[in-house]
Amino acid sequence: MTKPPLTPPNIIFIMADDHAAHAMGCYGSRINKTPNLDRIANGGVRFDNCFCTNSICTPSRAAILTGTYNHINGATTLSTPLDNRLTTYPKLLQAAGYQTAIFGKWHLGEGPEHCPTGFDDWAVLPGQGRYHNPEFIFNGPNGGTRQTCRGYVTDLITDMSLNWLDKRDASRPFCMMVHHKAPHRPWYPDEKHAHLYLNEDIPEPPTLHDDYVGRAAAAREAKMRLDKNMTVTDLKCEIPHELPERELRSWVYQKYIKEYLRVIASIDDNVGRLLDFLDEHNLAENTMVIYTSDQGFFLGDHGWYDKRFMYEESLRMPFILRYPAMAKPGSVNADMILNVDFAPLFLDLARIATPPEMQGHSFLSLLRGETPSGWRQSMYYRYWMHGDSCHNVHAHYGVRTHRYKLIHYYGDGLGLPGTSTTLTPPEWELFDLDKDPCELNNCYHNPAYATVVQELKAELTRL
Ligand code: CA
Repeated sequence: MTKPPLTPPNIIFIMADDHAAHAMGCYGSRINKTPNLDRIANGGVRFDNCFCTNSICTPSRAAILTGTYNHINGATTLSTPLDNRLTTYPKLLQAAGYQTAIFGKWHLGEGPEHCPTGFDDWAVLPGQGRYHNPEFIFNGPNGGTRQTCRGYVTDLITDMSLNWLDKRDASRPFCMMVHHKAPHRPWYPDEKHAHLYLNEDIPEPPTLHDDYVGRAAAAREAKMRLDKNMTVTDLKCEIPHELPERELRSWVYQKYIKEYLRVIASIDDNVGRLLDFLDEHNLAENTMVIYTSDQGFFLGDHGWYDKRFMYEESLRMPFILRYPAMAKPGSVNADMILNVDFAPLFLDLARIATPPEMQGHSFLSLLRGETPSGWRQSMYYRYWMHGDSCHNVHAHYGVRTHRYKLIHYYGDGLGLPGTSTTLTPPEWELFDLDKDPCELNNCYHNPAYATVVQELKAELTRL
């Protein structure tokens, strides 16, 4: 057993918006380098099976703060703000004497009933926020006060974080959430990164030209195709629609992925600034630093951008954690962790009991390389939005084990805010991830998998 530290540990929780693990050096990216993010992984643990329970911004953030699934916290869609009376881990840390702050993206609603609570200080972007000269809402009465700040959003969020660290009370522990807007659409890079990747071709993903044959109609009907649904605003140039579909998809991919990676370059630089600050102020040893994203993202995989689906690229969250007091540098963990586990982890670290309503579990022992007996072998996923006007992804739920994934597109918005009233025929998909890691072959109707389907349906019901 590692000896517990003498003073309560600090927490720096950095979260990007829509940063897929396959665009991070430490996860073996084929398309970019992220030397500063890799400092976190190299100095701690890389989790290879971290999954979100609903792959979309507001719901994932609500699950992280409350440690509960969206059917419990009520933030099922993009149109359901978080009720700020709910118990969250920042409130519990604050009550236990932690200094707490959040800077950057909130996206859980605005005004007195939905603004950040449980924080000594905060400054958040209204809605999605802007990349250049963004407006922020600053901590204040009646939901806070708005002010436009000059500069690039990722720099500004980092500046606010460093200023807050600098003026904090050094005698008490802190939990600071640095939640970047980047690399969310519409991918406007900082001028200093605009030259990156100009004269090179970025490798294409193996499923860029997916034809969706044999899969649920949900895949064909989703409106997030590079060649069909990307806009002039996304790409900042005219799109040569006269090109044949295959060529057009490759052309758009290059434009899209370069902007996405340029925006990530700024995150990497700014995470470096934060890590340098910790080194310079002798804080690295007793601070748990986390980098994650609210969900994954399709980087041309299946011919798509965006997220929402239970498919791997969208379901998987990057999750790297450095905490020298407990975690061995350069470790890799393959146990299944979920976004609802983050709150229990932070509370456990601060030695605060996890409230019974939280559904996640602390994975502190995984940092020491100790997997508790009975640790989960499967997870439940639920995408509540249905046929929304933007991307038309059908509502679905499913179960993932280490080997299989069963998805049920139940085709009904259930009258929730932000969903369509159009019903779609129910469909199922089953993927054997060992044999088909790219999820191209739906084997739900293959008789060889009949027993597997039966077992997974029973597990889905149990979960
Ligand atoms: Ca997001």
